[in-house]
Amino acid sequence: MWKWISKKKLKEKKHKCPCCGYITIADDQGFPCFGDICPVCFWEIDSLSGPDEPSDSNHGLTLFQAQQNYQAFGACDKKSLKFVRAPKPEELSTINN
Ligand SMILES: [Zn+2]
Repeated sequence: MWKWISKKKLKEKKHKCPCCGYITIADDQGFPCFGDICPVCFWEIDSLSGPDEPSDSNHGLTLFQAQQNYQAFGACDKKSLKFVRAPKPEELSTINN
């Protein structure tokens, strides 16, 4: 049972979204996949050095603003609201990270 679970996890290794905190980001050789878009908050993974740096991939939005927006209305910005979905149980950040 445990063997099966760990095998499955290894195969589907994912990273924590820096915006919403769910485990939704694809893996690229051990790092969050650059350019991947979180399906829960629609934040696009960017090579930001800090939360206050405007992200070109996210229309100049900073990670800090995106986090605030996700807390306020459930997406990194209002335009992305129609694209997002609710997180799945396995995307909760308690086990993988
Ligand atoms: Zn997210």
